[in-house]
Amino acid sequence: MIALSDVAKVYPGGVTALAGVSLRIERGEAAAIVGPSGSGKSTMLHMIGALDRPSGGRVEIDGYDLAKLSDRQLSALRGSRIGFVFQQFHLAQGTSCVDNVADGLLYAGVPLRERRERATAALDRVGLAHRLTHRPHELSGGERQRVAIARAVVGDPPLLLADEPTGNLDSHSGEVVLDLLRELNAAGTTLVVITHDREIAASFPRMIALRDGALITEART
Ligand code: ADP
Repeated sequence: MIALSDVAKVYPGGVTALAGVSLRIERGEAAAIVGPSGSGKSTMLHMIGALDRPSGGRVEIDGYDLAKLSDRQLSALRGSRIGFVFQQFHLAQGTSCVDNVADGLLYAGVPLRERRERATAALDRVGLAHRLTHRPHELSGGERQRVAIARAVVGDPPLLLADEPTGNLDSHSGEVVLDLLRELNAAGTTLVVITHDREIAASFPRMIALRDGALITEART
């Protein structure tokens, strides 16, 4: 699903965020990325998510060499094959849950009525069928993150990427969100999660550790 070959990222200004990372993640795997703040975790997730291009090396996602794709093709790849979940949820504030989730299908060109039907099913899948018309500010943090997960998976992407998805949640809500991510993985979605929480990371079948932009260890449980 993911193949990084000697991937480097130097930001304008000269910060080397990734210094030659090689890594394969197979279809159906669940992996946690760990490392201290500034070690390059988010940058690596941006490379995997085709949100940014590397300064060197090769990124292949679902069989596509990203260097061979135009910006428009990269957007298409993101829209159709990759779901994103962020620590800050990134929901549209004045918009109902069902429409927040339905927006996850905008790229696919699905008509509004079908978008809403599929959004309703996705919210049901995350246990929020009773919150369709609520707006994000009427929900708890854990519920907001479940809406964000519904939006990420409404188009059935084969790959789900999460950057500190439990970072803003209390431990119970965090557990619920993690269980949901594990369920999606069990149903076949390849899952990559950044966490600074060692306990959470250790609960994943695979743990990838970064330091100073380089892979330091890999553990499989
Ligand atoms: P982590 O997610 O592990 O905290 P990041 O990937 O966010 O690490 O950052 C790695 C390094 O790259 C840090 O030194 C950070 O300051 C730098 N960095 C991240 N994003 C940018 C950017 N857009 N421009 C310049 N430097 C950046």
